[in-house]
Amino acid sequence: MTTTGTAPASTFEELYGHAPEGVWAAPGRVNLIGEHTDYNDGFVLPIAIPQAVRAYVRRRDDGVLRLASTRVPGAAVELDVTGLAPGGVAGWAAYPAAVVWTLRRAGHGVGGADVLLDSDVPGGAGLSSSAALECAVAAAYNDLYELKLEAGELALIAQRAENEFVGVPCGIMDQMASMVCRAGAALYLDTRDLSARYVPLDLAGAGLTLLVLDTRVQHDLADGAYAALRAGCERAAALLGLSALRDLAPADLPAAFARLPADLVPLVRHVVTENDRVVRALDELEHHGPAALGPILTAGHASLRDDYRTSCPETDLAADTAVAAGALGARMTGGGFGGSVIALTETAKAQAVADAVVDAFAKAGYAEPDVYRAVPAEGARRES
Ligand code: ADP
Ligand code: MG
Repeated sequence: MTTTGTAPASTFEELYGHAPEGVWAAPGRVNLIGEHTDYNDGFVLPIAIPQAVRAYVRRRDDGVLRLASTRVPGAAVELDVTGLAPGGVAGWAAYPAAVVWTLRRAGHGVGGADVLLDSDVPGGAGLSSSAALECAVAAAYNDLYELKLEAGELALIAQRAENEFVGVPCGIMDQMASMVCRAGAALYLDTRDLSARYVPLDLAGAGLTLLVLDTRVQHDLADGAYAALRAGCERAAALLGLSALRDLAPADLPAAFARLPADLVPLVRHVVTENDRVVRALDELEHHGPAALGPILTAGHASLRDDYRTSCPETDLAADTAVAAGALGARMTGGGFGGSVIALTETAKAQAVADAVVDAFAKAGYAEPDVYRAVPAEGARRES
């Protein structure tokens, strides 16, 4: 943390020949529960994590947008903001360019900038590096162009950027988590109206540790699969005459199943039971403390594995091994098809749980997972 400020700032100067005007940080996230509920107007319960994307930015008034990342070798990508169009920017640079395009389309007359991104959020690991990147750039533009947009509005801009310019039909959870989460709290978010409630989450005080086990299976090929799942949910809602699956309660499921084709039944069962798990998780957190989340996490994983089918052998092995080694509960977090598993464990058992997962991966011939300890961290902010 302390060294990240110096090195990228000098890289910025080397690249662009002047200093950045400021640094904006936006964190990755882990979602405690509520997976694939956000594009069904449902509830989610994420925390921001300490890992963040930092955007070093200097405003330019000539309409030129220069983009570089410490993760990507080579010269900066140079674009003209008036020429931005979906499909017109290849690779990683589409994410920051998307934010500028979306701001302009929303009527904010923003121009160019020199941008250097520096990040310790692993990409494609289910920890939402893409939203962190978008939110860091959105926060920088908001300040440098004096847009005076609120955090929730910036989250919507960032989501639209990913949907319409990058072409990933994600829901709103990742961008809202990155923009508005608070240290020491989980964010209980209603994705229908974006009303938010902060639920204190003192894991250390409860003697608990939240492990993040990054399987290092990247979900590069997942975009098409994600879009197909989302389309399936929308088709089911339309067949049931609902605006979104969020409007279905667990008790309504048997009657709904009778009206749906067989292939949509497991999708609907996941979304409706998952939404209910978020509501129950909030209740458990507020009345019994974080240890009570364990069984809800494990049930959520089973639903992703058996009904939504977004799990994979590596995430199943990590979740199952963590629970067998004494974790209170474990589940895959994020969109799926790889990525990370979270395991909630008594702190005294955390090392044994992590070791068990590393061992199991070695025995299975999988790459060694990366292990982090997550604490609820602060959302997007200006750092200098
Ligand atoms: P996730 O959001 O779960 O990490 P995504 O597939 O949604 O996974 O986004 C990952 C993509 O975001 C990367 O492939 C890359 O294009 C972009 N990205 C993330 N972090 C950086 C970074 N530091 N520099 C450049 N591009 C990044
Ligand atoms: Mg993403």
